[in-house]
Amino acid sequence: MMTILYEVRDNLYINLTNRCPCACTFCLRQTRNHMDSSGSLWLDHEPTAAQVIDQLKLRDMTRYTEIVFCGFGEPMEALPVLLEVAAYIKAHYPNPIRINTNGQGNLIHGKNIEPLFKGLIDTMSISLNTPDEDAYDRIVRSKYGKAAHKAMLTFAQNCTRYIPHVVLTTVSTTITKEEESQCQQICDRLGVTYRIREYDS
Ligand code: SF4
Repeated sequence: MMTILYEVRDNLYINLTNRCPCACTFCLRQTRNHMDSSGSLWLDHEPTAAQVIDQLKLRDMTRYTEIVFCGFGEPMEALPVLLEVAAYIKAHYPNPIRINTNGQGNLIHGKNIEPLFKGLIDTMSISLNTPDEDAYDRIVRSKYGKAAHKAMLTFAQNCTRYIPHVVLTTVSTTITKEEESQCQQICDRLGVTYRIREYDS
C-alpha cells in the first residue's frame, strides 16, 4: 500500500504528490525513498482528498503536534486536494497545519494562490536556500528558471496577509554566516521569520 501519511518525530506528514517543478541538487529523493519509518514515499497515483481523509480518520490525532503537507514532491502541485484536506482537518481537529513548500505555487498555477490559505493554514514554511538569485537558480534548477527566486520571495511576502506564521528556511552548514545574515535581512524586509533548519526537518 502506498504511503500517504507518515510520522516524523511528533508530527504527522501528508504525502500528496511526487510532482515538483524543481530538481534541487540536495533533494532527498535522489538518495532515499523514505523518511524515518515511513516506507516508500513514491506514489502509484496521487490520492484523492477522500482517500487522505479516510486515512486521517484511522489516526489518533491527539498524538501530533503539527500536521504537515510535505512528502516526496511539491504539495502545491496537488493544491485542490491539499485545500480540501486542510479544510477537513481544521473542521475536525485542533492541530495546527503547516505546508512545506518551494514557494513556486503561483508559477505552478499561473495566479496568486495565497488568499486560498486564509483560515486553513497556520504556518507556511518556504525554502529560501540562499540569498543569491543566481545561486538559487543553480541549486534549485526550477523549470521556471530565474523567475523562480523572485516569485518565491513575493509568495512569502503575500502569504503574510493570510497566514499567521510565514517562515523562510535555509539548511544549517550549507551557506556561510555572512549569507545567513543576508537571509535574515531579506526576511526582515519581507516581514517573515527566518529559520535555519537541519537537513531533513
Ligand atoms: S523542491 Fe523539494 S521535492 Fe522539489 S526537487 Fe527541491 S527538494 Fe526535491
